[in-house]
Amino acid sequence: MIQTPYYLIDKTKLLRNMEKIAYIREKSGAKALLALKCFATWSVFDLMSEYMDGTTSSSLYEVKLGREKFGGETHAYSVAYADHEIDEVISNADKIIFNSISQLERFSDKAKGIARGLRLNPQVSTSSFDLADPARPFSRLGEWDVSKVEKVMDRISGFMIHNNCENTSFSLFDEMLTKIEEKFSPLLERAEWVSLGGGIHFTGDDYPVDEFCARLKAFSEKFGVQVYLEPGEASITNTTSLEVTVLDTLFNGKNLAIVDSSIEAHMLDLLIYRETAKLAPNEGSERYLICGKSCLAGDIFGEFNFDKPLQIGDRLSFLDAAGYTMVKKNWFNGVKMPAIAIRELDGSIKLVRDFNFADFEQSLS
Ligand SMILES: *Cc1c(COP(=O)(O)O)cnc(C)c1O
Repeated sequence: MIQTPYYLIDKTKLLRNMEKIAYIREKSGAKALLALKCFATWSVFDLMSEYMDGTTSSSLYEVKLGREKFGGETHAYSVAYADHEIDEVISNADKIIFNSISQLERFSDKAKGIARGLRLNPQVSTSSFDLADPARPFSRLGEWDVSKVEKVMDRISGFMIHNNCENTSFSLFDEMLTKIEEKFSPLLERAEWVSLGGGIHFTGDDYPVDEFCARLKAFSEKFGVQVYLEPGEASITNTTSLEVTVLDTLFNGKNLAIVDSSIEAHMLDLLIYRETAKLAPNEGSERYLICGKSCLAGDIFGEFNFDKPLQIGDRLSFLDAAGYTMVKKNWFNGVKMPAIAIRELDGSIKLVRDFNFADFEQSLS
């Protein structure tokens, strides 16, 4: 038995997402790059790299990880590169996408040997949460002025546009893409490739995959471009759980249970976006607030139903815990980081990484 807490990645579930991605690549002609900022657990890259074209990144370290551990096509993007890192970025990338004309002008000569691109900001997005809205007012994420971009077209061959966010609706995606076509058509006509970013939940259960493929294909043919997708969340959605153990139970107007994990340390987005964890089956008459073991008062996974009272030592399993979790885990309160385990295709479970006191100590000095 593996000691909790640990993240458990199920390769059978991962394979289902990968097969959908492979189908979309085949049917639409688009290429698919894993967005490492969402998921960078390289122990499963051997499986993923059979179904995806490569990776995209948001920093020097991510681009190096993509090249070393995933292979295939390696896209480099960053909100801003520093002088001291640009050479290493270029030597690890097949394409580099600059966030601004200013960064392009600063580094375009150095990057002459690889494909260069620019991020465009269509000033519309599907996000309703301004923290995560690339099109928020005064956004720093990409250029939007067509006439300014036209002046640097001699130095770039393509664009990246990322304006979808947890978008489960095909019609909303379609609407966004139409707006992009209207706004940027003079630029798109001169491009060889266009990356449409991430945030499109095309691996969801009821997503109209064939319509999506047809739309991508039509876009690609209209402008004569190779389309790229950069799925983060869509690649790994519903593949992973966070396995925890109940350490204590209390009553304070409600039944409380404390587990050996923490949302602030291990599932930070629940805190940032004020969401609750997912736990199945969430049925029965015994209702508990499931709380983390950090000292943050609001360290709460959520309120769930159980068919019998929780006991110390009971095991719980939070669902859909792959995206933006392992990449964000931290040492707040010195809470032990969850280990990482993989359920192989044959059902056997393998521990691939554990963390201990030395890791905690060495994360600071
Ligand atoms: C965050 C991000 C992605 C991945 O987004 P998901 O919502 O995880 O699919 C892809 N491309 C860019 C540029 C991003 O910033």
